[in-house]
Amino acid sequence: MERSKPMYGNGGTDGRVAIAVDFGGTNIKLGLVRQGQVVSRASLPSYSDQGLIGRLPAVEREIGRLLAERRLRPSDCAGLGIATPGMVDAEKGTILSINEKYADAVGFSFRDWARGAFDLRCVLENDARAALLGEIAYGAAVGETDAVLLTFGTGIGTAAVMNGRIVRGRHAQAGILGGHFATDIRGNACNCGNTGCLEAQAGHWALPALAKRHPGFAGSSLSRHGSLGYREIIEAAGSGDRVGAELLETLVAHWSAGIVNMIHAYDPETVVLSGGLMKSQAVLVPMLQEKVRQRSWTPWGEVKIVVSRDPDASVLWGLASLLNPK
Ligand SMILES: [Zn+2]
Repeated sequence: MERSKPMYGNGGTDGRVAIAVDFGGTNIKLGLVRQGQVVSRASLPSYSDQGLIGRLPAVEREIGRLLAERRLRPSDCAGLGIATPGMVDAEKGTILSINEKYADAVGFSFRDWARGAFDLRCVLENDARAALLGEIAYGAAVGETDAVLLTFGTGIGTAAVMNGRIVRGRHAQAGILGGHFATDIRGNACNCGNTGCLEAQAGHWALPALAKRHPGFAGSSLSRHGSLGYREIIEAAGSGDRVGAELLETLVAHWSAGIVNMIHAYDPETVVLSGGLMKSQAVLVPMLQEKVRQRSWTPWGEVKIVVSRDPDASVLWGLASLLNPK
């Protein structure tokens, strides 16, 4: 199959390797990317008690190991790309605001670190934005000029590309707050300060409280689980558990409202869905598609909904494409 030309660079047509590091909540994922291929991958635990700065020596060692395995020196590489959650100033290469776990990294100069450790230039981007750029460069949305992404993990991350450009905004927060568009004004308090945000109503972290509030919870198969997440609720619904089915119906209503909000805000042709929730894509995508079709105002036609094939790789691809702009 012929691929259309990626808009955000090519991940290294000059053959030079991009080093990419994705600081996730549970794991730090590392990769070497050459011409759109993740040629080496590694993963380190995040160890929340060490913050982000405390993990950098381990990240340095792991990058060194990956390069040595490929018989590469840092000087053979195009640069180092870093993705983190939170608000990232891509122009300055610093984090402006982030969740508690990595709070020590606010204001930290990743550029100085990359220069000191590897004598390489560094790009920094929000993880959902990097994922969307990666999907456009090499993934499920190749060549799209207008697309949004929602990634359903512990929280719900989003990003938008409009008219061929990643949306960052005046204060670096545009496009990434789709998980904090309220889907219930009388809803739960969110960790962002708002009430009834999509992720406070239907993100992974909100699910145990949501399930326990259901009047039938004690009699449901869900009460037997030690931890409750997307998978447990979807499986309970699939096995005929009434409480599970009702919860899933509520969740699908919130998730589809979140998708419609992104469509109404950013006018995409394609919505990319990603994250752990998409392990249940066979069940969920038709349900979401139907609701989005009913509720979105798109007189020009129907927004395509696609699912990321390799969510881990998409962030790494996106960082590589930022290091190799056309
Ligand atoms: Zn919120």
